[in-house]
Amino acid sequence: MLTIFPGWFAGPLTTSLLGRARREGTLDVRLHDLRDWTTDRHRSVDAAPYGGGAGMLMRADVWIAACESVWNDLPAGSTVGHVHEPPAEAHHVAGGERPRTVLLTPRGRPLTQALATELAAEPRLVLLCGRYEGIDERVHELAATDEVSIGDYVLFGGEVAAAAVIEAVTRLVPGVVGNAASPDDESFSSGQLEYPQYTRPATIRGRGVPEVLTSGDHAAVERWRSERAATLTRQRRPDLLGPDERT
Ligand code: SAM
Repeated sequence: MLTIFPGWFAGPLTTSLLGRARREGTLDVRLHDLRDWTTDRHRSVDAAPYGGGAGMLMRADVWIAACESVWNDLPAGSTVGHVHEPPAEAHHVAGGERPRTVLLTPRGRPLTQALATELAAEPRLVLLCGRYEGIDERVHELAATDEVSIGDYVLFGGEVAAAAVIEAVTRLVPGVVGNAASPDDESFSSGQLEYPQYTRPATIRGRGVPEVLTSGDHAAVERWRSERAATLTRQRRPDLLGPDERT
């Protein structure tokens, strides 16, 4: 992960299942401070946009140098390319292909369960977190293999989006989620929303639980869940269904 705020991840990466996955070695997350690849004494990563306009943009030279080091798993600050003029083919990855490199951006491919599943199959991911008004276009062209958005809204930076990618992907890595929660049974995996669920107490503020759930009839429970999942999906997310399933 490349970010100018590695400290931002201290909570998300040490808490709950992500923290445990890292401690147990199921998940290896390496945080890199983009500023470690700057070359001036102010460690600046941004500059004014050519053509004018509001705000500052993140510089391509710093990003390309950082990506090349991280792709090659080299120590912070080292480079394998030309820092100031990245070559057209900026993918100098010693002995192999550049890993899947995901640039978080509002204009990216929407993050879905299908995309998370695709990314979970990769041995290694590099996540690039933007800040300011965004990143020089040449980083999109030369460094990113994927552009991913977590929704149609604009955040201050890519860190929240990267954390969402990490959580969605890590849940699909075998051994991270225990038997009690199977990712196959959840919203989106089956192409629809999950059915409603209940636990103790049996009654709250006069509201009980659907009788079928306490009937002990497993087949009836399965039918009820499947019917409720279908109804909820039709009502709330018809876009998840094929044209014949929507009515
Ligand atoms: N000027 C950009 C635009 O209009 O698309 C927005 C830049 S935003 C203020 C700064 C950074 O936050 C982006 O470079 C990106 O890394 C991240 N970001 C913001 N919203 C995002 C979203 N919905 N999904 C993924 N990343 C996002």
